Amino acid sequence: SLSDRLSGVFDRLRGRGALNEADVRAAMREVRIALLEADVSLPVVREFVDKATERAVGQQVLKSVTPGQQVVKIVNDALVEMLGAEASDLDLDVSPPAVVMMVGLQGSGKTTTTAKIAKRLAGKDRKKVMMASLDVARPAAQEQLAVLGRQADVATLPIVAGQQPVDIARRALQAAKLQGFDVLMLDTAGRLHVDQALMEEMKAVADVATPQEILLVVDALTGQDAVNVAKNFSDQVPLTGVVLTRLDGDARGGAALSMRAVTGKPIKFAGVGEALDKIEAFHPERIAGRILGMGDVVGLVERAAETIQQDEAEALAKKMAKGQFDLNDLRNQLQQMQRMGGLGALASMMPGMKKLAGVAERAQDDKTLGRLDAIITSMTPRERAKPELMNAKRKIRVANGSGTTVQDVNRLLKMHQEMANAMKKIRKMGGLGKLAAMFG
Ligand code: GDP
Ligand code: MG
Repeated sequence: SLSDRLSGVFDRLRGRGALNEADVRAAMREVRIALLEADVSLPVVREFVDKATERAVGQQVLKSVTPGQQVVKIVNDALVEMLGAEASDLDLDVSPPAVVMMVGLQGSGKTTTTAKIAKRLAGKDRKKVMMASLDVARPAAQEQLAVLGRQADVATLPIVAGQQPVDIARRALQAAKLQGFDVLMLDTAGRLHVDQALMEEMKAVADVATPQEILLVVDALTGQDAVNVAKNFSDQVPLTGVVLTRLDGDARGGAALSMRAVTGKPIKFAGVGEALDKIEAFHPERIAGRILGMGDVVGLVERAAETIQQDEAEALAKKMAKGQFDLNDLRNQLQQMQRMGGLGALASMMPGMKKLAGVAERAQDDKTLGRLDAIITSMTPRERAKPELMNAKRKIRVANGSGTTVQDVNRLLKMHQEMANAMKKIRKMGGLGKLAAMFG
């Protein structure tokens, strides 16, 4: 496995501290093989590995994990980030009917997914949904959707023999408008391979129906061809998202990464079976785990990182006990909060700690973190350790040096004061270390 291969690469590195470029490159050769085995397309692998390498070089290796494990975690996080850090839902916020158009190769799962999404919208989201099949290429394709409609209890546009896709789209739009449907789902024809006639038809339909969402449906088993499929479709119509089907099979899911890299669009749903309720929001962490096949290593490193945070929290608690919560500590806290909602999230659970949580939230909401950082950086080490030194003259100097205003500097000092006060309260309750242990 990747884990074994990496431990070979890294055994000699154990306990050495930071990851250097040569070692990271050696590890990335193994990661590269793992990604190719998971069917990520070659150009996407190259780009991804370069980015992950850049990120990994110079990072400290956590206590109690090996450098190889650390690299896996870095690669995993980069994967999750690239796959879209959070799930993204359909955007149907237009005057009805909102049109959702499904495109993709034949057999990718368009018709099934159309019915699945329709069912979901009608059930969970209580939308009035109509489906229409524009697939006149395959015999009985329209009937297939009608059958699924009856199963899902979702209306379908009555079939009129001999009508062409663009005309069906027009008729569907009109019917949906007249009958007050919230959403109109258009299922289109596919081809075995991308061809120009299909693309022209798709574009003509999109022109008539002006869809709010155009979803590219892709079989998770699509291998190296995924890049071509994604490129061809996204060159022709403005895709808004991707649906990955057949994730219930043993596909490693590399196509997800290829799709995401080429289209730049979020993967909005995952198909996980043939039945109409077998559709889920897309979970980047799960696919990342599948692509790398190293979920347990990732968990291990995460736990190690948490331990270190607790160590840091305890060190901070000790400083506080001596009344030494200075601006360097404030900066660390703000950075940690931004990384993980750390202290803010923690504090909001504790009665009496709302104030601290509020300060933390304000700093995040206003995206002032960069500015706060610039201000603290512009102070001398002595000023950071003793904020009470900050008189009017120093404030002007720091404001100028950081490209901010004296008002900003004052706000920062006030925030520090508020936090220092809140910290004192935490101390009385048994210290941050205890707190972190309770909730960690
Ligand atoms: P279309 O040609 O793109 O419209 O594809 P269909 O919707 O007709 O699906 C082709 C086949 O794939 C059907 O047998 C579906 O039941 C099956 N299928 C679609 N989505 C999934 C899925 O997520 N998992 C599994 N196992 N099968 C699926
Ligand atoms: Mg179909």
